[in-house]
Amino acid sequence: MTDRLTLLCVHAHPDDEASSTGGILRTYADEGIRTVLVTCTDGALGDSPDGTTPDLEHHVPEDVAAHREAELRASAAILGVQRLEMLGFPDSGMEGWPQNDAPGSFWSTPVEIAAARLTPILLEERPQVIVTYDENGFYGHPDHIQANRITRAALEQSGLTASLFYTAIPISAFARFRALMQEAGIEGPGSGDGDDEAPPFGTPDELVGAVIDVAAAADAKFDALAAHASQTESSFFLRMGRERFRIAFRNEWFVRAVDPFSRSGVDDDLFAPWRA
Ligand SMILES: [Zn+2]
Repeated sequence: MTDRLTLLCVHAHPDDEASSTGGILRTYADEGIRTVLVTCTDGALGDSPDGTTPDLEHHVPEDVAAHREAELRASAAILGVQRLEMLGFPDSGMEGWPQNDAPGSFWSTPVEIAAARLTPILLEERPQVIVTYDENGFYGHPDHIQANRITRAALEQSGLTASLFYTAIPISAFARFRALMQEAGIEGPGSGDGDDEAPPFGTPDELVGAVIDVAAAADAKFDALAAHASQTESSFFLRMGRERFRIAFRNEWFVRAVDPFSRSGVDDDLFAPWRA
């Protein structure tokens, strides 16, 4: 009755596929499920391989984009991604950067127009499960917010029936991350000053609709992040070391956004209702 099972992840930049869905991509690929990765921007406003940040004059966006595409291809191969599509929008930079509104940037492209690049891919693949970020782009990055908007618009344009999930990190998991990082002596997001300080972001645990065991994929996720060597954010996770990383990333968490089955409770499989 059902077509072959397909997972499709929509991400903003090269490296997001590894950090937020590396576990499920590898886990479901290992199970024989088709996995498709769509990366919306070229990542041109990331750091250069030599660490040059985009605010510096000798930062060459074209070179960064080419380098990051190679890193993305390596990461996708490690994660067993069967089809990688880059939508090719220029990176819009972090919130408040002048590049947000540069003509043609992902952020400044009207949602319906940007979504029209994604819709044909959805119609070709007919995924049962689609994953992207929440309306806040998980942490407010304009390109992540836009990825959310175009995914919802493309799903509607396609007329497909599919389960849409948003990536999440529950507040309780942030607390564990923080403890692991302190143990490793690493300063980073969430390391905060005082212990009683609320984490800067995180999803209330009761909103999480799926917790996926990706422990067997933790090494692949680590290697995929390492493939994005030019980006400091990925090396931040890597500084934890493999052992702590395996503990920190033994699960990936998701919130139900569009659920044709109106499920409740917490699933341990994004495809649960599709396998019946
Ligand atoms: Zn990103």
